[in-house]
Amino acid sequence: MLLVIVEHDNGELVEAAKEALTFGRVLAEKMDDDLEAALIGSDDAGLVAAAGEFGADTVHTCTHDLLRDYGPDAHGAVIAQMIEELKPAAVLACGSDRGNEFMAQAAARLAVPFVANCVDVTPGESWSMTRVQWGGSLLEDLALDAEVPLLTCGLHAVAAEVGGAGDGDAESFDADLDDSVTITMVKDRVVLEAGVTLPTAPVVCGGGRGVGSADGFAPLEELAALLNGRVGCSRAVTNNGWRPHSDQVGQTGTRIAPEIYIASGISGAIQHWVGAMASKHILAINTDREANMVTKADWAVIGDLHEVIPAIIEEVKARRG
Ligand SMILES: Cc1cc2nc3c(=O)[nH]c(=O)nc-3n(C[C@H](O)[C@H](O)[C@H](O)COP(=O)(O)OP(=O)(O)OC[C@H]3O[C@@H](n4cnc5c(N)ncnc54)[C@H](O)[C@@H]3O)c2cc1C
Repeated sequence: MLLVIVEHDNGELVEAAKEALTFGRVLAEKMDDDLEAALIGSDDAGLVAAAGEFGADTVHTCTHDLLRDYGPDAHGAVIAQMIEELKPAAVLACGSDRGNEFMAQAAARLAVPFVANCVDVTPGESWSMTRVQWGGSLLEDLALDAEVPLLTCGLHAVAAEVGGAGDGDAESFDADLDDSVTITMVKDRVVLEAGVTLPTAPVVCGGGRGVGSADGFAPLEELAALLNGRVGCSRAVTNNGWRPHSDQVGQTGTRIAPEIYIASGISGAIQHWVGAMASKHILAINTDREANMVTKADWAVIGDLHEVIPAIIEEVKARRG
């Protein structure tokens, strides 16, 4: 049996979980085996039914006081116990941040290999697969020799599609958990203020190491507010503690796709670029005309951002009267 871990957030199915179920349905067919699903921290009838609609025969639900909200250790522990008791032939989840996190936890607990972000999987004596690396800039072929392959499928590796003849019968699974799995847990949730978010903002005013300090972002905040946009930043900035990680653009941050990305004092390293490359237009502001961001941008201003940004703000204000 192929076991697909169905990711949800507080009882709400995440979109990528539908992709994992679709990917799993195809993989189960290749394995000539059944598709079953696991719901951790919920036994919601709607979620069980959704897993059935995507082809899962049995949906193993696991609820527990320590699974009230998301925790990678607790999820990993439950998956490891499910593997030991249900003995699936393979386990799959979606390659979201959480999916990769709890599968890595499960793999570590069982001391078995885990392959993240697969886009194509061929089961067999020895499994072979292709996975995406480096934020989508590298496809890697590999062979996996494992008793139980633990995999995640890359985001958007398939389009989610209901199908299959799954009964979607719920079966409760008892997990043995103690406080040792509460090292990392969601304790509190803060609803973001209304308005544009970084992934959906039409304008992103990004700042890099060239901004020089946390206070140096004030003009970028002002420009973003004027243009109904959001401030983004590079990892050099979050590493320096100038901005929170939620503002980081890139491979280990947010992927943005604004109408225009104003990238100031950012060199445009590949890890930053993969998060910014979907921008419709890029304006780079940099003192170095050879900087990667400058060579890739639609427009560039070669100059000191501490002079250029205030000048843009003045111009926008002047034009608006
Ligand atoms: C596994 C891994 C994951 C990573 N993930 C990310 C990620 O998600 N996002 C990310 O951003 N990085 C990421 N990085 C780091 C990345 O490799 C770069 O180190 C980082 O993006 C550099 O940030 P930066 O462009 O701000 O700094 P720098 O590379 O130091 O560039 C600063 C730029 O500012 C310019 N400048 C300096 N002063 C001024 C001024 N006064 N006016 C105008 N321009 C000026 C310089 O000419 C230069 O081009 C990752 C690295 C690794 C290894």
